[in-house]
This record gives sequence, structure tokens and C-alpha cells, in this order.
Amino acid sequence: MSVQPAEGIVFDATVPVLVIGAGACGLTAALAAHAAGAEVVVTERDPLPQGNTALSAGLVPAAGTRFQRAKGIDDDAARFAADLTAKARNRADPALVQAVAQAAAPTIEWLADAAGIPFEVLDDFVYPGHSALRMHALPERTGEALMGHLLQAAEGVGTTLMTGARAATLYADADGRVAGVDLARPDGAVDRVGCGALILASNGYGGNAEMVRAHIPDMADALYFGHEGNRGDAVVWGRALGAAVRDMSGYQGHASVAHPHGILITWAVITEGGIQVNADGRRFADESRGYSEQAVDVLAQPGGIAWTIFDGRIADVARQFEDFRKAEAAGAVKHAGSLEGLAEATGLPPAALAETMRQVTTYADGSVLEPLGRRFDPRSVLLPPYLAVKVTGALFHTQGGLAVDGRARVLRPDGTALPNLYAGGGAACGLSGPEAAGYLSGNGLVTAVVLGRLGGLDAARSTQGRGVGDAA
Ligand SMILES: Cc1cc2nc3c(=O)[nH]c(=O)nc-3n(C[C@H](O)[C@H](O)[C@H](O)COP(=O)(O)OP(=O)(O)OC[C@H]3O[C@@H](n4cnc5c(N)ncnc54)[C@H](O)[C@@H]3O)c2cc1C
Repeated sequence: MSVQPAEGIVFDATVPVLVIGAGACGLTAALAAHAAGAEVVVTERDPLPQGNTALSAGLVPAAGTRFQRAKGIDDDAARFAADLTAKARNRADPALVQAVAQAAAPTIEWLADAAGIPFEVLDDFVYPGHSALRMHALPERTGEALMGHLLQAAEGVGTTLMTGARAATLYADADGRVAGVDLARPDGAVDRVGCGALILASNGYGGNAEMVRAHIPDMADALYFGHEGNRGDAVVWGRALGAAVRDMSGYQGHASVAHPHGILITWAVITEGGIQVNADGRRFADESRGYSEQAVDVLAQPGGIAWTIFDGRIADVARQFEDFRKAEAAGAVKHAGSLEGLAEATGLPPAALAETMRQVTTYADGSVLEPLGRRFDPRSVLLPPYLAVKVTGALFHTQGGLAVDGRARVLRPDGTALPNLYAGGGAACGLSGPEAAGYLSGNGLVTAVVLGRLGGLDAARSTQGRGVGDAA
């Protein structure tokens, strides 16, 4: 992974817009650049494009969409931006927060129209920190389905997708203008492709153990649950080109990966009233803050594990997610008709478990103040049958990355934009600030599709010598 001088380099072919990475960001960028009239090539290291996007639940937040209006949900970009800012404790880039919050609804509606994505709003639970029902999902509730639609749409409009083509060396002029890229093929061959503009959509550095240890030591030994191909290439290239990076310690963790099955258990089980206890049968943190910050707390428990406990009503909500159904099929979800049965099924100490459940009831009815900071809803008190899953904490993806503006242009430390370089999704710095706690559910995909679209439009127009307007 390096950047070399472009002088004297001859390219096999040159395209107006080159995109590195065929996940949600890269494919959305390609669709947008194509819609703006540019020829686009997307290059992807894997033989079959999947990325983190295919591993995800495919949930994308957006405020003020026609899908929300159809369900009578009152929401707008200002409210979304306020939620993002509050979750990141005011430490995310405010200009980027505003730009993404405003462009999210137009992007979702455009993707529905241009890529035929049948978005619908989740209306049976709210993720921590969102003040409105704004999570847009596919009927399948999977990132795999999202990837399927994006790939089909990109291929449908004639985008060239080069798979098994890992971008390795970038060639650039002294002013940081990227002239082209070497694409390494599995057989050792190299394709040298020139470009008018380059969009980095190669995600973050979750798959690069050295970078994780350097920037996110808390997660250095944790399970990495994202795509192995996300090696931090964008950050390495960007830095070599003189770009600024931001919030490199920020990340999305998750406190509810079934162990040892390695299957995501939706956080809806917690937002709907479930709890987490450690191997001693005791709660250890306020689960309602969010799954990202809770991951470290789970890892700090004996054996780095916890039990997520919920009930039959909540399981019905969770079953809309394929992963949850898979976890049930794999035997990861224990069922019991009573607390004694639950203790037996999980191996948790019966007396401590019963005491924890009794305490939760007193917090819910308001007779005792909850010491960890969680407010329990009396309507969500857990009732038999009880269910439980043994879980661990994991790193899902990194949120730090290249500093970008509201057009997805990569910025230098002085705030000026590099001549023809764009970044989005996990390649760019996110909306979460420098801490795991700053991650608001959906921050991953919303920056992938929104910055992908904005970058694709701007890149296309810049190579056509046209002015750039507001894409939102
Ligand atoms: C289990 C799980 C569930 C999640 N659920 C959600 C969710 O519901 N909502 C949400 O908002 N976020 C979710 N996320 C986070 C979300 O998946 C990511 O933030 C998002 O997919 C990032 O999209 P991307 O396009 O930037 O990256 P990716 O989808 O990872 O795509 C990047 C692509 O670039 C390729 N690449 C990398 N380097 C190179 C190179 N040098 N040359 C060529 N190709 C390269 C990779 O192979 C990959 O295909 C989840 C993450 C995980 C792990």
C-alpha cells in the first residue's frame, strides 16, 4: 500500500471516475456518478463483493422520508442531527453531521427509485439515542439483500465492476492529484488504471490488527466481527497524500454476539426490556446506553462473556431478523418457563439470578432507584417464558478515517480539499466522534450511502468541468 509519483507512469486505460471498494459506499457512489453522466469503474479485492455491508443488518437511518410519512412518523433532518450530536457528546464534526443528516432522506428515496430498493421503516422498536422511528430496512432485514439490490442496479446501468482486483499503489502528482492506481490480480498480474477522480470506498481498519492495537487498544484482543478485507488502505493512502484523519479511536462495538456461535443477537432484545448479567448472575452496566459502548463492559466481565436475558414477547420482535432465527436454529437461545429453569439452562447461580430479576422489577415499579442509570419501563417487565443467549463483545467496524467535507472531498489538515480524492463509508471519518459511545445505530451505513452518493455526484461533475450544486 503506497503512493508513488505519477510522473512517467503510463496507464493501460483511463476512466473518469474510479471507485475502490464495492460495498454500500462504492456501489452507491458508482450509481450516483453514473446518474450524473460519468463513466465509472469499481474495483473490488474480493471475487464476490460483500464487505461489511453484506454482514450488516442493512438498517439505514434517515429523517423526513416518504416512507416515514406513509406511517405517520414525524421527523426531520434537524432532529436527526441533534440525536447524532447528542450521542457523540458534541465531539463529531458538526459540519459533516449536518450534511449527512440533511442528505440522508433524499439519498434513501433516490436509492429506492434508482436502485429499486424496497425500503420500509422499522416501527416496532427504537435503537438507543434515536428520538424517532427512522431506521430504514429491507423486508429481509439483511445487508446481503441490500448488497444484492445495489449490485443489480450498478450492473443494470452498465457500471464496470472489476472483482479480484485489489488496489495497491496509487500514483499522484506533487499537488496530491491522483493520476491512477495499480490493481493487483490474484495471478500476480497488475492492471494500471488512470482516473479523473478517485473515490475511496474501501472501509476502515477493523481488519488490520496492528492499526486496531494502535488506535483502539480496548478492542485489540476482541473478536473482530467485520470483513477481513478492511485493512485501512484508505487511511494509509490518504495520509501519504497529505490528508487529515479524524477520530481514529472511534468505532462501533457490539455487546451481543452469541458465543461461541458468532451470530449477532439484535439489540432490540435489550431496548424492549431485556438485560445483561455476568457469569455471577449480576448486571454490570446500563444496557440502555447502546450496544457499542456496552461491548467493552461485556469484555471486562469474567471470561469476557455475559448472558442476554429477555422473554417470549421480545423474542417475537427479534424473530424478524434472520440472524436471530439462525441463532435459535443453532441452539444459541435457551428457553425456560421459570427463573429456576433459566438458571439451570444457563448455569447461572440461581439465587443471584433471582435476586437480579427481583431488583429489576423494583426498578421498573419505581420503588427502588436503579443504581446504574437505566430507566426500566414498567410495561416491559420480563415475564415467563424466559430466554437467554450467552454473548461476547466484538468490534464491528472502525469509525475514524479521512477527514472529508459535505461533498465527501478528502481534506488536508488546513481544511482545503485534495484535488480529486473522495472518501465515504468507513474510509472517511464518521459521525461518532472519538469514542465507541458516540456510535448512534446506523452511523455505519448512513455515511456509506450518503457520502457515497455525494462523492459520486461531485466526482462525476468535477471530471466534466461542471459546477457542483447541492446534491441533497
Ligand atoms: C455484523 C454487522 C452488522 C452491522 N449492521 C449495521 C446496520 O444495520 N446498520 C449500519 O448502519 N451499519 C451496520 N454495520 C456497519 C456497516 O456494515 C458498515 O459501516 C458499512 O457496511 C460500511 O460500508 P462501506 O461501503 O464503507 O464498506 P464495506 O461494505 O466493507 O465495503 C468495502 C469494500 O472495499 C473492499 N476493499 C478494501 N480494500 C480494498 C482494496 N485495496 N482494493 C479493492 N477493494 C478493497 C472490501 O473488500 C469491501 O468489499 C454492521 C457491521 C457489522 C459487522
